[in-house]
Amino acid sequence: MISKKVVLTGPLGVGKTSLFNRFLYQRFSEEYLSTIGAKIDKKVLDIDGRPLTLMVWDIAGEVTQKQVPLSYFLGASGIIYVFDLSRPATYLDMEQDLAYLRKILPEVCLKIVGNKTDLLEPPTLARVLKDLPHPPDALTSAKTGENVEALFQDLGRALLNPRPTS
Ligand code: GDP
Ligand code: MG
Repeated sequence: MISKKVVLTGPLGVGKTSLFNRFLYQRFSEEYLSTIGAKIDKKVLDIDGRPLTLMVWDIAGEVTQKQVPLSYFLGASGIIYVFDLSRPATYLDMEQDLAYLRKILPEVCLKIVGNKTDLLEPPTLARVLKDLPHPPDALTSAKTGENVEALFQDLGRALLNPRPTS
């Protein structure tokens, strides 16, 4: 069976561990336990009838501050870069994180995800989306589960069907 490594990354407290727990164990906690090192688990997806094993890495540390060992990213086919829609500090500087990730993993499938949609009223969300330095690929809530399965399905589909390079 095909197996792909996917790494969740992004600033502190944006909901990486919560998305991991929601996707792998269908659970959510309001408690904030900062992640130590890395946690890895796998889930088999059905992508249009084809099985795909995702090895999902939930890692601690900020992207570009070099607290994250490079080895955590090595071999990754997918990166989910998470920010918090309710905290501008987590998205205003995302370009440098994205540039760093593209430098170390030029071929990676990178998904930019705005999390915590449940905390914003629709007009506020619309304003935030207009101000983003980079359009997100998905908007999720680890709390309600909104779009979480769809995010991993989309990523899985992209990993199984890479776009031909010209
Ligand atoms: P990490 O540092 O990126 O791994 O962030 P965590 O997953 O540990 O989450 C940090 C805090 O945000 C915790 O208190 C979570 O309960 C909370 N949180 C995470 N995702 C959501 C969400 O979608 N909605 C809400 N309301 N809170 C969330
Ligand atoms: Mg965490």
